[in-house]
Amino acid sequence: MRTVAVTKIGSLRDPDETTRGRIGVVDLPEQELGPEDVRIRVAYSAICGSDPHLAEGFFGTDVPIGLGHELSGVVEALGERATRGGLRVGDRVAGNFLKFCGTCRACNDGRQQFCENSKEYNRPGMAETITWHESQVYRLPDDVSLLQGCLLEPTSVAVRIADKTRVRVGDRVAICGGGPIGQLALQVMRRHGATSLTLIEPIAERREMALRHGADFAVDPVGEDQTARAAEITGGRGYDVVIDASGSTRAVRGLLDIATLGGTVVYGAMYPDDFEMPLHLSDYLYLKELTLTGVFVSPYAFPRALQLLPHLELDELTAAVFDLDDAVAAFEAHVSGRHPKVVIRCNSFEDDA
Ligand SMILES: [Zn+2]
Ligand SMILES: [Zn+2]
Repeated sequence: MRTVAVTKIGSLRDPDETTRGRIGVVDLPEQELGPEDVRIRVAYSAICGSDPHLAEGFFGTDVPIGLGHELSGVVEALGERATRGGLRVGDRVAGNFLKFCGTCRACNDGRQQFCENSKEYNRPGMAETITWHESQVYRLPDDVSLLQGCLLEPTSVAVRIADKTRVRVGDRVAICGGGPIGQLALQVMRRHGATSLTLIEPIAERREMALRHGADFAVDPVGEDQTARAAEITGGRGYDVVIDASGSTRAVRGLLDIATLGGTVVYGAMYPDDFEMPLHLSDYLYLKELTLTGVFVSPYAFPRALQLLPHLELDELTAAVFDLDDAVAAFEAHVSGRHPKVVIRCNSFEDDA
């Protein structure tokens, strides 16, 4: 079964070709269909900002490392007991790449994100098919296309970020980073009643995109004084909620200065594991009483992400589509930053819009 994979560990951005990481299409065996499993013929699988981190060996260095966790598809086969959620062959679906076991201490304590057995079903989805446990699979609403459906997983991350902000209606919100998660978080926070909604992003196209989809303000952190602009926008108070969706080591520290007294800062990206952020405890935690938190995976967020999906504006995030055989070009396009998001078509379905 053809599967997109990391075939050589290294940075995909390395200018030196001899040390650069490599993506390829490899042949991996199709997974066995267990009694509670669902085999999905994958329609679309989107490239995630975390995929280049996998190429760098963040989660292991044994190649090939199969990629793809943001996918949609059509149910092709069901295990004999995989019908409890009402799934049928032919259903259009998307889902969670992690299966939470439901029996470990973390699962039983309301913290699925720390499930001790969640790797069991974490399988590559940039492939012709993927087999998941039925608990991972969600049927797409009729008004969501397969192409839009592959954004269910990143939408679940935006929902999880929103959960961690504990936003209140009317809160002033800033989001740093205008990649897909930042853009989705922006739309989710807008629906949450965010005000003074600001995107902080150095790339002009991404700022413009945010302004088209609900941002009240867009700030260029390179060309403008971010702290001064934040003060101007919030009447000198700062934002109640600040979200980092950039993962930029240059951006993360300044976000503490634009949060208001008692505000919340959510570090909602992946960060290099050799990076440490200095934190002035007296200023930020004592005098300012900030709440700092992060996001690892998105437990309990998929049902709500599914509810939101038909209401989000996703066209710009699904405009760049490459075929599975062109996966190398797709990753080059992703790394180039030319498109807000790059999607890989793993199989064609006639009825898809
Ligand atoms: Zn992702
Ligand atoms: Zn568990």
